[in-house]
Amino acid sequence: MLHTIKPAEHGPLGDPMVHAVQACVHCGFCLAACPTYHELGQEMDTPRGRIVLMKQVLEGNLAWTAAQPHVDRCLGCLACEPACPSGVPYRDLISPFRALAQPYFKRTPIERLRRWLAARTIPYPGRFRLALRAARVGRWLGPLVPRALRPMLDLAPATVPPAESWAPVTPAHGRRRARVALLSGCAQQVLDPDINTATIDVLTRNGVEVVLPPAQGCCGGLAWHTGDLAAAQAFARRNLDAFPTDVDAILTNAAGCGSAMHEYHLILRGTPDEARADAFRRRVVDVSVFLIRLGLREAPPDSGKRQRIAYHDACHLANAQNVRREPRELLRAIPGVELCEIAEGHLCCGSAGTYNLDQPELAASLGAQKARAAMAALATGFPLRQGSGGQAGLAAPDVVASGNIGCLTQLQAHLAKAGSPVRVRHTMQVLRDAYMDRG
Ligand code: SF4
Ligand code: SF4
Repeated sequence: MLHTIKPAEHGPLGDPMVHAVQACVHCGFCLAACPTYHELGQEMDTPRGRIVLMKQVLEGNLAWTAAQPHVDRCLGCLACEPACPSGVPYRDLISPFRALAQPYFKRTPIERLRRWLAARTIPYPGRFRLALRAARVGRWLGPLVPRALRPMLDLAPATVPPAESWAPVTPAHGRRRARVALLSGCAQQVLDPDINTATIDVLTRNGVEVVLPPAQGCCGGLAWHTGDLAAAQAFARRNLDAFPTDVDAILTNAAGCGSAMHEYHLILRGTPDEARADAFRRRVVDVSVFLIRLGLREAPPDSGKRQRIAYHDACHLANAQNVRREPRELLRAIPGVELCEIAEGHLCCGSAGTYNLDQPELAASLGAQKARAAMAALATGFPLRQGSGGQAGLAAPDVVASGNIGCLTQLQAHLAKAGSPVRVRHTMQVLRDAYMDRG
């Protein structure tokens, strides 16, 4: 017997989930965009298949555990949203469903331990740095480490860059054109603190005063995407309190963080903070969008070098925030740059938060494909002259640029595995380096 979903039975997140389920007309246009369908070729690992499964669970017609493997395998990449002609807001379904499913999904003790370790370390830079150091010991222990924990060791970088700190306020160079608050991020400031340094440099050169609220914390994205609603709410509230209102925008330079902050109204739906969260998320913008709207004060100088850059669309920028044009425009503003498009750019690189830890085989397959596609894109660019001397046409090293630390880490690992010398850089690092390179 078919039941109808009763939104009220599913708490404050019931309405958005039901709306998403009902909007799907099962046409299947989203299938080709879905990386897990691309990898596994089965209906239950497509957006349409998952929507049907989640609908049945919400109606009480299917056990939570029957949907679990397919819901767990979803990357949350949202490639299904732009592909959907009916405008199904898949994001309003997947994370709320995971939050609701948390008590019912079955996990082994080791899986629970892995999730607990990730949740207790990654959002806290001090702990995360310590955990990465501990991973070196874990690697030395090798086979003694349980199999389910090994992906954590494999992914930990061999070296951790020294910590950097940033002033609470960095004044604009010259006349101030704007004042912004920047999210400093958690994993990013440990894995590559230079991204924040470069972001602040580019903004201040362009007349923007940058505030880093000292009381800010993790965006809450990791907790939200793994079904820990209470933790996501706590992180969101902390940032609502920490960020000033007397700024022109709240900037992020990590796609995953920006996307999570855009969902604060959903995370805090039905709580006294919902309206505040909604106002907050409307002020959140990716740094590339902010710079394009503001306009670069001056283009980077012409160093006389030519460089191929393959731009990788982070899913949480392209799909979740519809940001595709702006980072490309910034890179094209650099004299001598040829931008190369990566084939099948809509396919996720497999990083996707903690997906690398939870679904290591799928993540590795997607990562290897993305690295190959990036290398192929760069290989078809214009021929660059090798040599030294700074003449026009001199080749600078090929680069893959992106706007998300997860993607950058994943791409770097898989390019290295493929033996490629290509460098992986955040868009802000490429831009900052171009400003400083006078040939
Ligand atoms: S394209 Fe949209 S409406 Fe069609 S099956 Fe996919 S989610 Fe449903
Ligand atoms: S979010 Fe990504 S992996 Fe999940 S159903 Fe949509 S396209 Fe597939």
